[in-house]
Amino acid sequence: MSVRVRFAPSPTGFVHIGSLRTALYNYLFAKKKDGKYILRIEDTDQSRFVEGAIEGMLKAMEWAGVNHDEGVTIKDGEPVELGEYGPYVQSQRLEIYQEKIKTLLESGHAYHCFCSKERIDALREGQKAAGEMPRYDGLCKSLSAEEIAAKKAAGESFVIRLNLPQNRDIAFSDIVRGNVVVNTADMDDQVLIKSDGFPTYHFAVVVDDHLMGITHVIRGEEWLISTPKHVYLYEAFGWPAPQYVHLPNILNADKKKLSKRQGDVAVEDFMKKGYLPEALVNYIALVGWSPEDNQEIFSMAELEEKFSLERVSKSGGVFDVNKLNWVNAHYIKESADERILDLAIPHLVAAGFITEVEAQERYDWLKSMIAVIKEKLSYIAEVTDHVGIFFKTEIKPEDEEAAEILKGEQMNTLLDAFIGKIQEAEVIDAAFGKKALKEIQKETGLKGPQLFKPIRVAITGQSHGPDINQIIEVLGKQNLLSRIEYVKSHLL
Ligand code: GLU
Repeated sequence: MSVRVRFAPSPTGFVHIGSLRTALYNYLFAKKKDGKYILRIEDTDQSRFVEGAIEGMLKAMEWAGVNHDEGVTIKDGEPVELGEYGPYVQSQRLEIYQEKIKTLLESGHAYHCFCSKERIDALREGQKAAGEMPRYDGLCKSLSAEEIAAKKAAGESFVIRLNLPQNRDIAFSDIVRGNVVVNTADMDDQVLIKSDGFPTYHFAVVVDDHLMGITHVIRGEEWLISTPKHVYLYEAFGWPAPQYVHLPNILNADKKKLSKRQGDVAVEDFMKKGYLPEALVNYIALVGWSPEDNQEIFSMAELEEKFSLERVSKSGGVFDVNKLNWVNAHYIKESADERILDLAIPHLVAAGFITEVEAQERYDWLKSMIAVIKEKLSYIAEVTDHVGIFFKTEIKPEDEEAAEILKGEQMNTLLDAFIGKIQEAEVIDAAFGKKALKEIQKETGLKGPQLFKPIRVAITGQSHGPDINQIIEVLGKQNLLSRIEYVKSHLL
């Protein structure tokens, strides 16, 4: 049987990185097994509907390169369906659920429940106060067909519940968790159809996974507690249940579940800050899964080849932003300067360093600047912390060490010598910088930090920073001369 897996997000407005990981593991498993990866939209909870959420989710997945074989995609601004098992949006499948619930009502695996919200609330409060598990007490189970018909005719609102057998062990196997057994005494008669006629998640997920031929359900461990209900639903329908795989939570440094309150958790946050998609995918693959060796950098193709569900860990993986930054910095260094510059331009414009027009006019110059600072970046938004030295017109000592250096006795001699070299030079590049500094060393006898630091401070205002020769190249003749002149006339 060929593998069919699915990622089934509820469009709630942003994509948690845990969801990206669930999608990725489904995708990788499908690739590895030559199967199909399906994306289904679970939007039956109308109260949680967020405008534009589906589009945002599809965009994030496309950005990450986690592309589905079947499901909804956006083509020319319009949603289109790929595949033959659709519709892939649950709110378009309501007739199917209505049809399927009839089977369960007829076989006695489901029943109408007319209890009011007030009664259910009071019941639960009482159970909680008595230290019991809150659950429905089955009052409506015994209603006769005539009573049900009469209540319906009178317009009474109702839900349809799952009719669980009493004291039965429900067992299933999970690739990460092993064998799981739960007794129905610890379960509730789950609502399957709500009073608005919409299915609950539990009912829709089973019907759809079955009708869409899903062989493996790979999802977050928060759903583990619901799985016995799903397994019983399969039994009630007489359908084979899929293989389950519950992924460990992604935790924060305190080993608590990673939530929005602790900063960036949405894929969109990482996109905005300028993480590269291959870096986020590479890093997130390793939170909860590990390869057989110690490899840390993986292309998508390598992940597709090496991923296995058997190596998914049972315990939660800690999301370590420093590690993510390390992976991202690796990919930034490996990327072409143009790519990094194109990603950096919106940040430079937003911070007021340049305008959009200047960005195009001075593209080559900006590219040489990016080449110098690229290796300092953990993510692209940090570019604005590093480019200041290339845009300033007036030099000011930016730290105490720089201020001290400006007081040095040899400062004037050194700067005059450097001015001379600059004026004579035809080309100002890194090689010029190297040669000029060597000559000045010979002429003045100053060397090492006594030579480089004063020059660095005079042209950047900083005592530390990127390679001095590269800075010289990016600044060019006019900038160098005017900066040194400024320092000589204002700061010495
Ligand atoms: N719609 C559920 C969610 O938002 C899907 C859970 C599942 O994969 O069964 O996570």
